[in-house]
Amino acid sequence: MKGKLAVIGLGPGFENYIIPAARQKLDEADIIVGYHKYLKLIKDLIPDKETMGTGMRKELERVQIAVEQADLGKKVCLVSSGDAGVYGMAGLALELLSGQKNINIDIEIVPGITSASSCAALLGAPLMHDFAVISLSNLLTDSDLIKKRLILAAEGDFVTVLYNPKSSKRTALLEDTVKIFLGKRKGNTPVGIVKNAYRESSSVVISTLTELPELYDQIDMTTTLIIGNSMTFQWGKFMITPRGYDLNSSASRYKQL
Ligand code: SAH
Repeated sequence: MKGKLAVIGLGPGFENYIIPAARQKLDEADIIVGYHKYLKLIKDLIPDKETMGTGMRKELERVQIAVEQADLGKKVCLVSSGDAGVYGMAGLALELLSGQKNINIDIEIVPGITSASSCAALLGAPLMHDFAVISLSNLLTDSDLIKKRLILAAEGDFVTVLYNPKSSKRTALLEDTVKIFLGKRKGNTPVGIVKNAYRESSSVVISTLTELPELYDQIDMTTTLIIGNSMTFQWGKFMITPRGYDLNSSASRYKQL
């Protein structure tokens, strides 16, 4: 039997936010491989399945296990949070396999709801115009390159989504980010802070560039930040980036509402 490897995203909060195609891969799998914390979170969805979990920063090990199992002819599901192709396991799996000669397994990447989308939905509609996604993790990317991309995103007036904004050991890049954006945008630019989206103890806050430093304590590795562009505004609990529609045009029914 030819083995199958499906790399899937579990979405932000698992269960209701896993797309049906990914759910089907979980149901069909002989074995599910992932970060043990995620396997624990989906344990009710996969009650009788064989699983193999590894710890944080053991991504390569997880991919190797998944490939080995698929090589044995099994149906393997390798899981990431959010979308597996956004700072997830999909790229690593394909990179590893691309360097090998005799691969005899079917590989499929199944999309998931990435944090940018899920956190944006909780905030309202901040991503209605061009946006950039930048990870502040400097584990695999040089800090200078991260800062260069932040400067360019700020200059380009992109709405900017920040993944991995801060860890317990690393806050400097978040501080740099605020300085960089304050150099290019108004202090009252809205910043959405979403922690644990669609999970227990989730929180959604809209702050501003100027006030963000007061909230550093609340920001951690389960948080995604969305910095608005020059047009983004707050309406009650919502953060909105206008697309540019003219609400007062003669074709608009707005006035009648
Ligand atoms: N593949 C994932 C991203 C992994 S990088 C995806 O597509 O979403 C890990 C970062 O994702 C975290 O540091 C955080 O910024 C973000 N993240 C993941 N899950 C989240 C959640 N439930 N709520 C808010 N941010 C989340």
